[in-house]
Amino acid sequence: MIPVNEPLLDGNERKYLLECLDTGWISSEGPFVERFEAAFAARVGRRHGVAVTSGSAALELGVAALGIGPGDEVILPAFTIISCAAPVVRAGARPVLVDSDPFTWNMDAAQVEARITPRTRAVMAVHLYGLPVDMDPILAAAAKRGVAVIEDAAEMHGQTYRGRACGSFGALSAFSFYPNKHVTTGEGGMVVTDDAALADRLRSMRNLCFRPEARFVHEELGWNYRLTNLQAALGLAQLEKLDRTLARKRAMGAAYRRLLEGLEGVQLPLDRTDYAESVYWVYGLVLDAARGLDAREAMQRLGAAGVGTRPFFWPMHRQPVFEKMGLFAGERYPVAERLGTHGFYLPSGVALQPAQIETVAREVRALLA
Ligand SMILES: *Cc1c(COP(=O)(O)O)cnc(C)c1O
Repeated sequence: MIPVNEPLLDGNERKYLLECLDTGWISSEGPFVERFEAAFAARVGRRHGVAVTSGSAALELGVAALGIGPGDEVILPAFTIISCAAPVVRAGARPVLVDSDPFTWNMDAAQVEARITPRTRAVMAVHLYGLPVDMDPILAAAAKRGVAVIEDAAEMHGQTYRGRACGSFGALSAFSFYPNKHVTTGEGGMVVTDDAALADRLRSMRNLCFRPEARFVHEELGWNYRLTNLQAALGLAQLEKLDRTLARKRAMGAAYRRLLEGLEGVQLPLDRTDYAESVYWVYGLVLDAARGLDAREAMQRLGAAGVGTRPFFWPMHRQPVFEKMGLFAGERYPVAERLGTHGFYLPSGVALQPAQIETVAREVRALLA
């Protein structure tokens, strides 16, 4: 079986982890946490980094730290992971959805401004699969209407938008360090921001809102979302190799394109737009609906041929958990729906070998023959 993802731990991971064991620093109090925060924030051009336990935790804290609550609205893509909508719903605010661009698969930036109302507090821009969201129209609309921008850059470590680092836009940006991300800590995440007061608030919230002057007396409810020194040690070693990782991902994308180009019945990911070159976090395929083959069946058949795959995200307005809450009733986002039913991705990990890419491409061609 060719796995859909495998991490590559061939740098200083072992050395830094042994340093944790040898010094006894394994908790979040250890020195790798601040080193990783500073190095990661610097890499994406931010002044502050706040390491947390996951990308989902980063979004949860981001929404909470901006004070989003009942009566507020947050604009986000219909086609994304539930980690984006969940903190908005839990805060008692309302997610307002926009459909995707049919070619980049990212939220359609041109649809954002029309969704802004007097209740809108933030736009959550979520970069998906390899290309960033077209940020300029979103930044302009948000600035004009006095709305915050939250950037979900969980899949974009090292990517740029018009030459500016993904993770440097808006009030704050969230990253994930899950093992299929370009930098992994096993589980982990980070919020980055330029705002010192916001960074302090995020630090307090990730640490149960303990207070220095009266530790166990709380004015507010927080979370324990602290990253451990062990995880930060892995993260620092991974970050050192980020450019090599990106080069491997781009080479993977180019190889898949070369082997699959011209194939009928399937849409391949865009290589580039006028604002970015894909970093191929994953290599996705979207089957033509007219073929009568949906993603689920294609994935089953590829699995039987020894090729691991994963489905695309399932749109937010079709989530049973939100339907039961009465959210998004009667709303339609046709591009998001098509991506959800007909999209999936191929083995895309940084450890993937050229011979494996050829095998995968051969099986995809056989599937569509
Ligand atoms: C991975 C991911 C997340 C969530 O990160 P976890 O670390 O798995 O919680 C959030 N947003 C996007 C776009 C992601 O790809």
